[in-house]
Amino acid sequence: MANDAAAAHIRAREATAGRDLVYPPTPVPLVVGVYDNHTHLDPSTGSGRGDGITPLSVTEQLDLASSVGVRGVIQVGTDVATSRWSAEMAAREPRMLAAVAIHPNDTPDLETAGTLDDALAVIDELAGHDRVVAIGETGLDFYRTALDGRAAQFRSFEAHIEIAKRHGLALQIHDRDAHDEVVETLLRVGAPERTVFHCFSGGAELARLCADQGWYMSFAGPVSFKNAATLREALDVAPRALLLVETDAPYLTPTPHRGRPNAPYLLPHTLRAMADHLQTDVSLLAAQITSNTELVYGRWDAHPVLVPDAHTDPRISPAGGLA
Ligand SMILES: [Zn+2]
Repeated sequence: MANDAAAAHIRAREATAGRDLVYPPTPVPLVVGVYDNHTHLDPSTGSGRGDGITPLSVTEQLDLASSVGVRGVIQVGTDVATSRWSAEMAAREPRMLAAVAIHPNDTPDLETAGTLDDALAVIDELAGHDRVVAIGETGLDFYRTALDGRAAQFRSFEAHIEIAKRHGLALQIHDRDAHDEVVETLLRVGAPERTVFHCFSGGAELARLCADQGWYMSFAGPVSFKNAATLREALDVAPRALLLVETDAPYLTPTPHRGRPNAPYLLPHTLRAMADHLQTDVSLLAAQITSNTELVYGRWDAHPVLVPDAHTDPRISPAGGLA
């Protein structure tokens, strides 16, 4: 409804009003690199959205990330347009792989409009692309979706699980206030071999359950927040072999830059917060997480990037990297 949209817009502006929108300085580089296995750099949600006062281009984002030891990212689509963008960008950028999906919060409207199946068909097609390595983010969000939208979320979630299994891809799960229903769905339908709880938001109990099932837990900025003791209890319980790390940029900026724009180059803050809490060496943890990440998604150089025609796309250098 228009009134709701206007109110949300005003709330967003108010939320932004008090924020420092200058991108934070780069952290001390990691000695052993890691991958950001969940970020949004697409123009509608990421760098191009203008979250920072001076938006960063994708190349600037990835160059900054490389400079601090973030070796690559998984760019995550949330609708048809951003999923297409993710697959196309990953096809020509060596530091990027893609995940494609319809976000659970978008599914009720698509279902009402009668276009959810068409959208799922696009995701199924994109899942066949070489550098698309995961289906996500999909799942259940009972925080932002009312009761009458849940049936559509369940249907879409189950369809995404099927697509992931049919294509042999990893699954990235968005679970907000829906732990029990997400787990129940995975067990009922059968989880893909590699299943990741993106931005893990449970406590020790969910972490134990994930550990029993061999499901991966990807921690984001909130694990570094002062008031996130429950998340750190989960981190204590999670086997190291099932740990992943992500930014979910441009959201969820880690301490000490909470409230400022987030970007993959800030991932070292989250990794160091995890290592601090676990009282382990950062490089040791980075090596473990890098190995886990490659087991889940494959290597970033497993499929070569397209070498585009420099004459038709001036943004692409002859070497295949974005200029
Ligand atoms: Zn996300």
